[in-house]
Amino acid sequence: MPIRATKRGGARTPLHGEWDVLICGASFAGLTVARELARTDARVLMIDRYEIGERQTSACAAPTTWLEQLGLMDAVQQTFDELVVHVPDHTYRWPLPFAFSTFDYRRICALLREQSEGSAQFETATIKGAPSRTGFTVHTDRGDLSAPLIVDALGWRRILGAGANVQPPNARLSRGLEVHPHASGSDLELWIDPKYVRRGYSWSFPADGELRVGVGSFDPHDHVKEPTLQLASDVGVPAERWQGNWIPHQLRPAVEDGIFFVGDSAGHCLPTTAEGIRPAFYFGIALGRELVDVVEGRQTREQALTRYGAFSHDHLWQYRWLLRVQNWVGRITPTRLLSPVIGAISAPRLVRWSFGHYRDICAPEFVLQGPPAPARRGAIAA
Ligand SMILES: Cc1cc2nc3c(=O)[nH]c(=O)nc-3n(C[C@H](O)[C@H](O)[C@H](O)COP(=O)(O)OP(=O)(O)OC[C@H]3O[C@@H](n4cnc5c(N)ncnc54)[C@H](O)[C@@H]3O)c2cc1C
Repeated sequence: MPIRATKRGGARTPLHGEWDVLICGASFAGLTVARELARTDARVLMIDRYEIGERQTSACAAPTTWLEQLGLMDAVQQTFDELVVHVPDHTYRWPLPFAFSTFDYRRICALLREQSEGSAQFETATIKGAPSRTGFTVHTDRGDLSAPLIVDALGWRRILGAGANVQPPNARLSRGLEVHPHASGSDLELWIDPKYVRRGYSWSFPADGELRVGVGSFDPHDHVKEPTLQLASDVGVPAERWQGNWIPHQLRPAVEDGIFFVGDSAGHCLPTTAEGIRPAFYFGIALGRELVDVVEGRQTREQALTRYGAFSHDHLWQYRWLLRVQNWVGRITPTRLLSPVIGAISAPRLVRWSFGHYRDICAPEFVLQGPPAPARRGAIAA
């Protein structure tokens, strides 16, 4: 669980200057970009409002192969080969074609950070709004920070975006809330049950003496606190140690006004499943590789903006498909149809086929591959 380590008051000394790359946000996406840049001599500054790993931002479940490829297995807590899916009057067990693991957030951040420790400087600093930046200078509570290459890995708020951000509940966002009681379990469990949430799903993820029990709604207007209390009670655990956040469920422009966006700030979290860690790794690596080519003089910033913007945009059709499925969940009325519909898609062959395609959206082999193929299209406009 979080430790309060962020420097406060007088310890927050002034910080000004210019770097080659400024990475704003040091969670899954930002730490991955820094890891890619570690093989260069670039002067990289990474900032976050909290110390690295201080504030957990998710239930922390990801495909095990991704964690293996990134050298993060020391953070793994439990591994699962099947998914237990509950509908109102039935429970299905889906044998997964690839395993998922839960992991410790603080530990995984530390392991990722080790991979850029000698190359990227890290400082705690909070980016202030209105305006959050002027051109290529970012305004923080400790001072102004400048770089020709700026990455927004700041999560759903997309703080460095141009113009006013649409705020919840009217933005295209889902919402998730969970409790982390000390309890144990052996199954990765999902509930697709309107008793908890009308459009969305609920979960219980065991993680070595902790259960992460929560509810996610695709409709930002629907509240998730009462349903989380109800689910915790049904699972038989105390509703304690809360954490929650908004989750974008639509791809956003990955480049805008000269700034690179990655992870939730670019809407890279996958619709339907709200799986955002694997895409943050995947697009973080893609962006890191483009930035390496800029700092080593093989391309200009403008070329990197075009190539990375196009790379992200090339995934639009996959995100649209997942959004269609998301829109479909919760429209299965009446409830008595849920069981036969989920039953029909529970055939092992169908589970293997659909999860195989789902896995390929951000395949773990990407870690070992070279840079993405040259962009086929121009960058998407802001
Ligand atoms: C309840 C819940 C459960 C989830 N469970 C899973 C799961 O099991 N598996 C999965 O794959 N996905 C899960 N997700 C989604 C996943 O958490 C996100 O997609 C993922 O965290 C995105 O990573 P990121 O690095 O882009 O952004 P974030 O993890 O949100 O990190 C953004 C960083 O920016 C920093 N920051 C923000 N504002 C400022 C500021 N003004 N100044 C300085 N720093 C700032 C933050 O401190 C933070 O460190 C879950 C989401 C929720 C809400």
